Amino acid sequence: MASIILPAVPSESRPGRFGVYGGRYVPETLMAALVELEREYDLAKADAAFQAELADLLHNYAGRPTALYFCKRLTEQLGGAKIYLKREDLLHTGAHKINNALGQGLLARRMGKKRIIAETGAGQHGVATATVCALLGLECVVYMGDVDMERQELNVLRMRLLGAEVRGVSSGSKTLKDAISEAMRDWVTNVRTTYYLLGSALGAHPYPTMVRDFHRCISIELKEQILEREGRLPTAVIACVGGGSNAIGAFYSFIPDREVRLIGVEAGGRGRKLGEHAARFSGGSPGVLQGTYSYVLQDENGQIALTHSVSAGLDYASVGPEHAMLHDLGRAEYVVQDDAAALDAVVRLARTEGILPALESAHAVAEALRIAPAMHARDILVVNLSGRGDKDMGILARELNLQGA
Ligand SMILES: *Cc1c(COP(=O)(O)O)cnc(C)c1O
Repeated sequence: MASIILPAVPSESRPGRFGVYGGRYVPETLMAALVELEREYDLAKADAAFQAELADLLHNYAGRPTALYFCKRLTEQLGGAKIYLKREDLLHTGAHKINNALGQGLLARRMGKKRIIAETGAGQHGVATATVCALLGLECVVYMGDVDMERQELNVLRMRLLGAEVRGVSSGSKTLKDAISEAMRDWVTNVRTTYYLLGSALGAHPYPTMVRDFHRCISIELKEQILEREGRLPTAVIACVGGGSNAIGAFYSFIPDREVRLIGVEAGGRGRKLGEHAARFSGGSPGVLQGTYSYVLQDENGQIALTHSVSAGLDYASVGPEHAMLHDLGRAEYVVQDDAAALDAVVRLARTEGILPALESAHAVAEALRIAPAMHARDILVVNLSGRGDKDMGILARELNLQGA
């Protein structure tokens, strides 16, 4: 069990490179820290005690393996493919983020770092990090854009209750990108004492590889569960893509299974114009942002564009470099669902299955709602339900007019 959590052999062509994407585009002052992190991560992977402790926490603390749930009523209503949900929303703290926070938290402790910094968009990564810091007795500072602090207030309060300091970021678009910049600035200044616990499959090497490895348990479990239930692989695995961590975790062990479609869903926001969405593959082009080469939403001068999504967790101008490679190879497909479709999907899933998804996850549900009806009853769609919707109640109450009705 323990040995399967982290792969011994990296899949990328060269360490940290996914085709032409990835890499390590950082100021010189951070290079030594990234090299040290890579070396320590390699040592941790080879350490049976580290693997065993992580496996134990994932099971007994976070609640893995998560359920694979068949949506009987939704499937009947749509009249096509069978729809399953991989229930990452049932994990401790309410989203997949805890998988990565536990892994990196243990790594930080192993490296002797006592101060943890993190960035957060929807607040789920901040909550997961604050949780792990409380569990391991580490100091925790979380950077969060002012806009996100306002729309995800519940998570701000949760982080404070867990003992973390939340630092608001008022520069730029006041969202995830700006929070990452502030966290990187802090890291440059305090690199000796501080561990930067990055929340998605983003940033400079080794982060995209490491974060993917910590979420890879999602697709390992999923494959076993669907083979047991259906005796065959799914037609498609569908996941929302912010930075890309829940999606790469859900896709990873299916990459060699060519017959399984891998569908990533980006945020279409409120329109197709630059600034109105976070659809990096349809609206962006290759470029460097925050340490890695990938698809980026940028203007003709290479200036990073503003983004919008009703879901804070998908509201980011770049995407993990492994997704950029899977996109160019045609191995994964990337589609767009907008704010309205995500809101409809929340209501549909809540009222048909009694499950309230996070607005991020609802983008993936929306894609399943779109494609299932035209598919065959033999087809199987698995949606990675990355998180639960409680954190979004403020937005949902407003957008869906729940108080008036
Ligand atoms: C953070 C978050 C996301 C987006 O991040 P990824 O790295 O793309 O997975 C999606 N869903 C939920 C519930 C989140 O909290």
